[in-house]
Amino acid sequence: MNTLERLRGAMSTAGVQALLVSDLTNVGWLTGFTGTYGRAIVTSDAALFITDGRYTIQSAEEVTSMPSVSFSSPIDGEDFLAQKLTELGITQLAFDGATTVFATWSKWKEKLANVELTPSPDLFTSLRLVKSEAEIDLIRRSCALADACFEHVKRLIQPGVSEFDIALAIEFYFRKQGAEVAFPSIVVSGERSARPHGKPSEKLLEVGDFVTMDFGAKLDGYCSDITRTVVVGEASARHREVYELVLEAQLEALHKIRAGVAAKDVDRAAREILSTGNLDQYFTHGLGHGLGRVVHDTGRLSATSTDVVAPGQVWTIEPGVYIPGFGGVRIEDDIVVTENGIEILTHSPKELLVLPAAE
Ligand code: ZN
Ligand code: ZN
Repeated sequence: MNTLERLRGAMSTAGVQALLVSDLTNVGWLTGFTGTYGRAIVTSDAALFITDGRYTIQSAEEVTSMPSVSFSSPIDGEDFLAQKLTELGITQLAFDGATTVFATWSKWKEKLANVELTPSPDLFTSLRLVKSEAEIDLIRRSCALADACFEHVKRLIQPGVSEFDIALAIEFYFRKQGAEVAFPSIVVSGERSARPHGKPSEKLLEVGDFVTMDFGAKLDGYCSDITRTVVVGEASARHREVYELVLEAQLEALHKIRAGVAAKDVDRAAREILSTGNLDQYFTHGLGHGLGRVVHDTGRLSATSTDVVAPGQVWTIEPGVYIPGFGGVRIEDDIVVTENGIEILTHSPKELLVLPAAE
């Protein structure tokens, strides 16, 4: 079933007759479009993709499940939308209330005066959570590129190299392969590695630093997201102790996550392992998130999540421990849930690497 058919099924269940999809991530999921302006009108028997003149050629290539139309200056996007709704005979329209900003809604109230606008119930969160085989294949390829990137940058790690240099090498590698970065890379070292989402800085790597690198590619519209932590030069007993427990927590979560299990129970399993070394107090974020067209796709593995794990879902598993004044460790893999278990999509080594490797 393609995404348009799946959306129509959800619309029918929710009693939505006509839907305007305007959130770009939802539009991309629905149509495959990768530009910066696109909307789709969907009813049970009609669908239309609308973009502007910059994307006429691109949308004809990318959007294959519905006809595509575009407008150009001086025609205004909202006037064009009003015209298309009239042509389709739509007088009641649901829109995405969770992502539509007030200014846009105000314009619609003015320009779509003959259309009754109602916020749609959230249809996309659960639809986007479960990936098709085609989507999983694209994520698998994106993960393979992230693994290749780690193999590449791990050779750069030595005293005197800056966090900036490593972040730049990651981005350069992805760009050269025709991909983008899925999000700004995190490269933090030494005490700075205690910042879970720290920005790379001019700090130079030193012997005895943990270096945490969290990065991912966006390849053909789909993201990967991997974290590896290594030690520069020489690992202390404390480095090993902290690292081994985070790794044990990650392996336990990979063992626990199966179709039918509550997301919050997977999160708890990792936390319980960390508590055996009193490190759970330093695990300050959720265990993982859904992964897809955006790096933080729908779905959360956290203490408060109500998600239930099911086949076709793609998750990150990323426990972390951040000790102020010492440093932090995070280990993150991407997985897809199958009928009988999971497939791990990232394969970079997870034993503690001390770099540069001895000759
Ligand atoms: Zn990450
Ligand atoms: Zn992540």
